[in-house]
Amino acid sequence: MSDADPLAGFTPRVFSGIQPSGGLTLGNYLGAMKRFVEMQEQGVETVYCVVDLHAITVWQDPAKLTRATRELCAGFIAAGIDPGRSILFNQSQVAEHAQLAWVFNCVARMGWMKRMTQWKDKAGKNQEEASLGLFAYPALMAADILVYHATHVPVGEDQKQHLELTRDIAAKFNHDYGVNFFPLTEPVIEGAATRVMSLRDGSKKMSKSDPSDMSRINMTDDADTIAQKIRKARTDPEPLPSDHAGLEERPEARNLVNIYAGLADMKVEEVLAEYGGRQFSAFKPALAELAVEKLSPISAEMARLMEAPDEIDAILARGAERARALAAPILRRTYEIVGMVGA
Ligand code: ATP
Ligand code: MG
Repeated sequence: MSDADPLAGFTPRVFSGIQPSGGLTLGNYLGAMKRFVEMQEQGVETVYCVVDLHAITVWQDPAKLTRATRELCAGFIAAGIDPGRSILFNQSQVAEHAQLAWVFNCVARMGWMKRMTQWKDKAGKNQEEASLGLFAYPALMAADILVYHATHVPVGEDQKQHLELTRDIAAKFNHDYGVNFFPLTEPVIEGAATRVMSLRDGSKKMSKSDPSDMSRINMTDDADTIAQKIRKARTDPEPLPSDHAGLEERPEARNLVNIYAGLADMKVEEVLAEYGGRQFSAFKPALAELAVEKLSPISAEMARLMEAPDEIDAILARGAERARALAAPILRRTYEIVGMVGA
């Protein structure tokens, strides 16, 4: 690594998280989880987190939160995360995340936070009624990442702005305290489906918290439900184009092609070489079949793991212990840099 490399001197380490704010969606799988598994397979140190503290920035029914946390852990494992090789845990059990987040609340500026599109989207017109936690969300996310000195964060496109803010926080901390302590973390936004859109509205991203279940494919949907949701997905009357440019003004068509490419590990051009000129009445059943083929083994394994919640809890507890071993010295050093007595 050259001196110009902002990550020089930092051990490569991957961190990412998913909120237990509902069930896993196809968007989470293609935009995030699939990348998480690939990075684990590359042999880098990987730390993956069920971010329950983020989930409660909007109301969560306690019993549902408990279940969603376990189900998400099962989803990680079913998708291919090996809790022996990756560190897998839930955020609330490693207090260092919240502790570093407080320091970052004091580094981040109000103006930075007000510009965050996730804040604007989620708080909507009702900002006065939104929680303070929802506003501070990106500072906690920066802490999630930087408490491990993570160098790379695989995320979907929607989290790009939060990753930029994470770098701004790291840079301001380093500058204010005259240190080179926090790395300027790189986002990793890769694949054909970094932004899976709602099946009902091609201008909105697919989300697990969307009130409409028809807008998304859940990892736990059965074959009939997946087929029905894809059949009813909004499209236009034209046949599929034969090249990339033909998708430009057609967000719904583009979304379905991207999903196909993401699931099949193909390039968009390759999908269009096969389906260009065909009607959606031919493409949709093929897409549904592919989605069922890829998702049903994962959902079957999730269901099997959910039969043994104690095992899931033990995996999370062991993961939290390993995560804490990494995070505690970094938090302690942060407190020392800030000048706190006793650190
Ligand atoms: P919520 O609606 O509660 O925010 P979500 O579906 O957006 O839930 P998150 O837990 O916020 O899920 O995000 C987890 C990961 O999944 C992040 O890396 C995020 O970028 C990615 N992700 C979320 N939605 C999509 C999507 N539609 N396409 C691609 N990646 C996505
Ligand atoms: Mg989200």
